[in-house]
Amino acid sequence: MPKQVRHDNFYHFPYCDTVSSRGGLGWGWVGYMQTPVSIIKCQTYDENEVLKALRRSIDLVGGIGSFVKRGDRVLLKPNLLYGKRPEKAVTTHPSIVKGIIQMVREEGGIPFLGDSPGLGSAIGVSEKSGIKRVVDAMGCPIVEFNRPVLPPERKGRIFKNIEIDQSIFEADVIINLPKWKTHGQMLLTLGVKNLFGCVPGPRKALWHLKAGEDHKLFAKMLVDIYQVVQPSLTILDGIVGMEGNGPNSGVPIPLGLLLASPDPLSLDQIVCDLLGISRKSLLTNQVALEQGLVRDGIVVVGERLENVKILNFRLPTLSRIDWNLPGFLKKALKNALNSKPVIDQKICKLCNQCVEICPPEALKGNEKGLVFDYGNCIRCFCCQEICPEGAIKIEPGWALKFVGRKQKAEGRNGSEY
Ligand code: SF4
Ligand code: SF4
Repeated sequence: MPKQVRHDNFYHFPYCDTVSSRGGLGWGWVGYMQTPVSIIKCQTYDENEVLKALRRSIDLVGGIGSFVKRGDRVLLKPNLLYGKRPEKAVTTHPSIVKGIIQMVREEGGIPFLGDSPGLGSAIGVSEKSGIKRVVDAMGCPIVEFNRPVLPPERKGRIFKNIEIDQSIFEADVIINLPKWKTHGQMLLTLGVKNLFGCVPGPRKALWHLKAGEDHKLFAKMLVDIYQVVQPSLTILDGIVGMEGNGPNSGVPIPLGLLLASPDPLSLDQIVCDLLGISRKSLLTNQVALEQGLVRDGIVVVGERLENVKILNFRLPTLSRIDWNLPGFLKKALKNALNSKPVIDQKICKLCNQCVEICPPEALKGNEKGLVFDYGNCIRCFCCQEICPEGAIKIEPGWALKFVGRKQKAEGRNGSEY
């Protein structure tokens, strides 16, 4: 099992200027039972600036030396969803990967990078996203997550049989490097969701199939994976994030922020605060809260939260209204309540990637292009996630549209469904 560098009971930080009782910057102790999340401004992917921002953000949560020791095998887990250029904001930026490799090496750690992309190989996606050039130049190996094993310790509560890649258990330290993006199914993909990549490729689709019709079940699975993987450190690339139709085809948006924390769940909650949305609107947060996993206190260090709030960030529309309905009603109202994937045939390039990834084979080609078999579609939205052209959108069911219009008229944020 990876050596866990836990900071559950006690922290001290060099700077604390937000949630602490003291205003302003200064050296000092913060307190007990608190989990730090640092927020640092960084407006550019210039490698020197990113390295400076990484050093500052990690220093604020304990310093790299408190996570990495000489001789540690350090697994870097970026977001390698799909092979697109870095400026598309689909993957973690190469400058972040480069900076963290340098810092790990300075402590005598032995970094290696791994992931299981939505489609394609870790090496292939790294190549297209500019990460391979950086890691090759630094002599850092890339491993494919293709060795599924059952976790030796069954920490998850719901999905006892979920298989995780062997590399996770061979690492002494795991550094999680998510990208700040929207997600058509889960609202956002941040620290906890990024760990889904620790499930080896083909098995991911099977778990999508199992949890696809029920977003909350999917969130429970993500929280289970979080409990198993337990990264020592999470650094969120929010220098340029993605809004709208994420996680693959949204719009890049400069956010100018880097966040770091020993706990991705705490970090995800602070992102919700930054966006001005309820923490519980992110289902993984809600599930973790229900399971008593949310830490007692989160302390924000670095920038003051209220000074770096993100205004007018475009969230995706979700179909969450059916979660608390009885089963028979849910079924009867499936089309009214559930969102469904729809293809813009004018944009579709017939590359077939959505067909290949669809777990229940609910996408078929005919003379007019691709069509959905909605009877078989489990609404896992893997097709929307993978489409490189952004040709698949999520269309809310008629009841959801009605509620959304009503909310709009009342000036409320529809994304909270
Ligand atoms: S993945 Fe997108 S572009 Fe490719 S066939 Fe499917 S809808 Fe068309
Ligand atoms: S058509 Fe898309 S949303 Fe429906 S089951 Fe297939 S991949 Fe999932």
